[in-house]
Amino acid sequence: HKQTVPFGEHGIRADMLSFAAEKVVRRLHHEGFEAYVVGGAVRDLLLGIEPKDFDVATNATPEEVRKVFRRSRIIGRRFQIVHVMIGPETIEVTTFRGGGKVQQNEQGRIMKDNTYGSMEEDAMRRDFTCNALYYDPMRQQIIDFHQGVAAIRARKLVMIGNPAERYQEDPVRVLRAVRLSGKLGFEVDAATAEPIPHYAGRLKQEPVARLFDEIMKLLFSGHSRECLQQLNKLGIECGIHPLFDALQNTGNQGADMVSLALKNTDERLRADKSVSVGFVLAAILWPQLNAHWLRNSAAGQKSAAAMNSAIADLRDEIEKGWGVPQRFAATMREIWVLQPQFANRKGARPHRLLVQPRFRAAYDFLVLRAQLGEVDEALAQWWTVFQHANDDKRHEMSMSSS
Ligand code: ATP
Ligand code: MG
Repeated sequence: HKQTVPFGEHGIRADMLSFAAEKVVRRLHHEGFEAYVVGGAVRDLLLGIEPKDFDVATNATPEEVRKVFRRSRIIGRRFQIVHVMIGPETIEVTTFRGGGKVQQNEQGRIMKDNTYGSMEEDAMRRDFTCNALYYDPMRQQIIDFHQGVAAIRARKLVMIGNPAERYQEDPVRVLRAVRLSGKLGFEVDAATAEPIPHYAGRLKQEPVARLFDEIMKLLFSGHSRECLQQLNKLGIECGIHPLFDALQNTGNQGADMVSLALKNTDERLRADKSVSVGFVLAAILWPQLNAHWLRNSAAGQKSAAAMNSAIADLRDEIEKGWGVPQRFAATMREIWVLQPQFANRKGARPHRLLVQPRFRAAYDFLVLRAQLGEVDEALAQWWTVFQHANDDKRHEMSMSSS
């Protein structure tokens, strides 16, 4: 059932690949190996979406690939892959896998999978049919073993093989189904969707760092809200990861911090603007942090002290329970800790706040809070004027404020 799809049917020209992707494939070919662009890039090109990155699959072993490209290194994670650097680009090159037996734990989860195989075997180990397409830029052909091109035309996400077994082998495929269907606007095929509620719970046993990475891809896909809709629609229970719980507990109607932050993030990403991961995470966790802040204040602590203890209350949970890397956690704390300080508009303090490295992010955060009615609009406006004013005007403002 191997199908070769000619140019006339797919319309992907070799020059639609990135310079580096085309070069890597041609070079491997020249050295006598088989090589194809594979995975998300081929799928996205068929859909008219600009690919984020390019992956190459080949029958050359990692050592052989390493020898062909001077600027390359073998990355030894669960699967060995080679990063090939060409100019500013990095291309991930993987060797066709398959053939030998995989090592599974008692629950059927694949623990090791490092045997090499044919292209056909490699296709069988990929997750969805739309992700198992191999593009040959020399012949401008797509090789399709699983009717992936037809699935893309029908805008359907279809698991290769037996869906229940594939989720059991790797529960993260549940999250990939959520993300890809949300991002691409695909319908999850009935047989592919059916086992998801049963296997989603197994995500709890995945390393927290891998979950965090996958959730980041979902939040920063440019379609975070569609992905969250899919999370609910596909029947994924609470308690998988605290970030999902924080996300699912929002109204999703736009009038809360989380919805507002996700809407901004989606819009910025789709307009090719940058987003700050720390800022978005600070917003998602804000309802929880705010609850602690209010509680500590009600217990008699002063505003700034109440904020410090709220941050301390949640610190372990954020870094250990959620797997938030230190650099993002630090940004979150810096944004939060400045919030109570915006209340001080008198004397030297507003001038000191203005020169804090995180002033801008914290101010943007204050504006969101003002939009939600958590703080007075007039306060946010005061800071808008203050930061853009000249020294004389600032002096005057901080003298006359109460
Ligand atoms: P994106 O556009 O987000 O990069 P992608 O499908 O390219 O989406 P990657 O994580 O870059 O996702 O993976 C590249 C390819 O590797 C996929 O298209 C798929 O063929 C395969 N793959 C990735 N993760 C898995 C998995 N957990 N199980 C099976 N195949 C996978
Ligand atoms: Mg990819």
